[in-house]
Formats: sequence, C-alpha cells, structure tokens
Amino acid sequence: MFYTSTRNKNLRVTSSEAITKGISDEGGLFVPEEIPHLTEDEIMGLIPLSYKERAKKILSLYLTDFTEEEINYCVEGAYRDGKFSSEKIAPVVDLPGTDNGHILELFWGPTCAFKDMALQLLPYLLTTASKRFAPDKEIVILVATSGDTGKAALEGFKDVPHTRILVFYPDQGVSAMQKLQMQTQAGENVAVCAIKGNFDDAQSGVKKIFTDKAVGEKLAQNNMMFSSANSINWGRLVPQVVYYCSAYCDMVEQGNLYFGEKMDVVVPTGNFGNILAAYYAKKMGVPINLLVCASNSNNVLTDFLTTGTYDRNRKFYTTTSPSMDILISSNLERLLFHLSGENDEEIRGYMKLLSETGKYTVSDEIMAGIKENFAAGYSTEDEDRDTIKETFDNGYLADTHTAVAINVYKKLDSDRPTIIASTASPYKFPKSVLTAILGQAPDLDEFDMTEELSRVSTTKMPLPLAGLKNRPVRFTSVSEISDMEQCVYDMLGI
Ligand SMILES: *Cc1c(COP(=O)(O)O)cnc(C)c1O
Repeated sequence: MFYTSTRNKNLRVTSSEAITKGISDEGGLFVPEEIPHLTEDEIMGLIPLSYKERAKKILSLYLTDFTEEEINYCVEGAYRDGKFSSEKIAPVVDLPGTDNGHILELFWGPTCAFKDMALQLLPYLLTTASKRFAPDKEIVILVATSGDTGKAALEGFKDVPHTRILVFYPDQGVSAMQKLQMQTQAGENVAVCAIKGNFDDAQSGVKKIFTDKAVGEKLAQNNMMFSSANSINWGRLVPQVVYYCSAYCDMVEQGNLYFGEKMDVVVPTGNFGNILAAYYAKKMGVPINLLVCASNSNNVLTDFLTTGTYDRNRKFYTTTSPSMDILISSNLERLLFHLSGENDEEIRGYMKLLSETGKYTVSDEIMAGIKENFAAGYSTEDEDRDTIKETFDNGYLADTHTAVAINVYKKLDSDRPTIIASTASPYKFPKSVLTAILGQAPDLDEFDMTEELSRVSTTKMPLPLAGLKNRPVRFTSVSEISDMEQCVYDMLGI
C-alpha cells in the first residue's frame, strides 16, 4: 500500500517515508491511497484476540512495507506489560444512567490521556521506518501541544536513541497538572518551552519551522531531520484506528450489541485526529453508523459539519477542556481529501483560503459525504460542569473532555448502542472536576486537590500523576512566538 499527499496526488510514498517525514514537502498530509477493507470473517476473527494481537493485524494492513517481525517488535514494545494500568489497554465499560451508552477508556497509559495509545507506539514505528528511509540521521521531533500530546510525546521519545524532542505549549492554555507534567520531564534528549500565545499559535509556528527550507537545510548540515509527533503524522493516526476496531470487538464480546449491528461513536474533538481514526475504522468495514463530533465552546467544527462553512474568525475561548481549545483542526484536511474524491486541487484551494481569510465553504459533494457519516454537537462550560456532576451521581467519574462527549451524546437522545471515547483521566483536571462535583472550587493546591478527588470519589489516583509531586522542575522558559525558531537551534546546539 502506498500513501499520497492531500495537496499533491502525484506523490506516492511508502508508509516508512510518510511516518519518517511527518508532513509532505508542499505542506499536505499523507493519506493512504486506498483504505484497506476487513471482511466480516476478519472482524469476527479479531474478537477472541488480545489488544496487542488485534493491533498487529490492523497495523499490518496499513504498514505494508514493515515486516511481520518489525510490527511484532513495535506493538510488543509499545503495549508491554506494566506500561498501561489496564490489562485490556483500552477497556469498554458501561456508562451508568444510560441504557446503551458505553465508555471507551483510553487513558490508562503512562501520561493518563488517550495520546499514549499512539505515542507509545510512534517512537517504535518512527525509528523502524527511519532506519530504512533515513539511516544515520538524527530525528528531531517538534511538537505543538494543547496539553496532552506534549507530555505523551515526551514520555514516548525520552532517551530513544537517534531522536531529540522539543515541545511548545501555550503558557496560559494548559492545566496546572499538565504544565507540571511537562516541566518535570526526565530524559537527556528532551526540551520543553512555553510560548506567549494559544495552541493555534504554537501549531502554526511549528508548521512554519517545519516547512521552512532554510531551517531544513541547516538541520541537514548537522545530519538531522525533522519529524512530527502531532496527529498530522500518519504514525499517530494509524494506532488510533486500532482501538475503534478493538472497541467493536469488545462491544460484541460483552453482549452490548449483536455481531453486525452498528454502533455510534462519540468523540471529544480538537484537532480531528481521534474522530478521523474512527472514520477510517468505519471505512474499513467496522459496523459504525454515525461519527459524532463533540466540541466545547470552541465549536468551529459543529458549525462546519452542519453548514459546510469553516470559519475560524471567531472568539477563542480558554475552557476547562483545554485539549479541545482549537480553531484550526489539521486533520480535517484528510477527511476533505477523501470526501472530495481525492481532489488535491480542491483541497489546495480550501487550505489557501483558510490561511488567507480563515474561511472556506466546501462543495455539495463533500457536504453529502459529511451528512452520510457525521453528526456534531457542542457543550458549554455550564453544561460540561452539570454533566460531570450528573455522571458522577450516577456512578462514573468523567474528566472535562469526556464530559463534553457525554453531554453531546445525551443531547442526541439516541437509543443505538454507542461508545463514547474517554480521552483523559479526571485526575489530570482535578480542580475543574472537583468544582463540578462539589459545586464550588476547593481552596487547595493542585496535589491536595487530587487527594481530595480520590477521597470524594473513592477512586485511586493514577500512579504516574502521584509521582509528580517530588520531581524536580527542569523547564521554565517562556518564549515569544517569534523566537520559536531560535528555541529550536538553542535546544539542538546548532
Ligand atoms: C488531544 C485531546 C483531545 C482532542 O483529540 P483530537 O485528536 O485532537 O481531536 C480530546 N481530549 C483530550 C483529553 C485530549 O488530550
């Protein structure tokens, strides 16, 4: 199987090349030329398997230039015993207070957010791929994060030979716990820098550095090359396809639906990576009906999916679900490419309009594809708070992002079997979650709040977060957006 670019259909690269480069030279995103198909028997065959075995089967359909041994090595390393604190890796549990709602828990990894599902695997995929595609080069990972990606990428790449990683995050745009997780990061090959701006500024800055020819040449002279750990990298998306296939198997196995019956999937969305992975699973033949895109007050995607006009010229809100505070959802470009019948020229036009005017309206053809596959809704801050409280009273402790999705699910009022992606541990956002449960903000520091949350909810604080308290703070610099390029050179010592 080969990959092409959303902005240049003539391009044809292997999965190794797509993963090593992260983004195509002309700024497009790599997409599979064809989406592989699973027959009913093949899906049935996944049901008795473990998460790791399911992952190997799915990944081998997409990464056809990896050998079976390589895929085994990558998957066994990424999901080895002890890394995830749930034996099932991504368990499906019932959502109390509903007949047909189920939660796909994606937060049992080392940084307590769903990003671990992909970012534990990506370093293995990337180093395996780059051995073939760019041997001897040092890979420099640049990350823009709205909070969770940065930490998950740092954990995934720390002390991985031949790699360096540099993370930019919005100084005022992440939770106290997220900030502490990054500032205390261990590892010889890591660096972290806050910027005076929001996530979109960080992402645009990284994209600019990434595609700047002069910067690329300077790296090349030092035998280095950039790659990306953001969800623009295909190696981030493909591990996420696995858990939607796996969740369907679990739904059948747990008797939540009969084999062949369709389920809806609700995803709390920011950069459109997670929900796009569900779209690929659907196109592969997994019985999925609607893909429901759940947003917070930054509801640019709700408007887009209902009207066909994407308009980022709007107020940016800093919310209690910071990982979804995004107005430019990068992965939408991949969906548009598929729904346009792989029309790269059309996509170039939309992306030009987006960068020049912040706005574009898609064709009727694309809109028809959206209507066939997607629904969308959003949750305000008040609704999010009420949902956390109500869900807790019913017996489930949800984080602020997951609650956005639960709220949108409830508004749908559907009786179809549904999985709701739970993207973070509530312990990453103890202040917001406690405030929702108690009706007022507790007057405690961040760590006392996690202990209070544990006491109030009678659940256990995840070990990786408990360990933060005694870790030394290593990274405190805050930089202007215009200095991001210099930060990269400083960190690399070039
Ligand atoms: C990253 C993140 C999201 C958004 O996921 P996308 O793939 O960017 O749409 C939602 N919730 C949490 C907790 C996240 O970390």
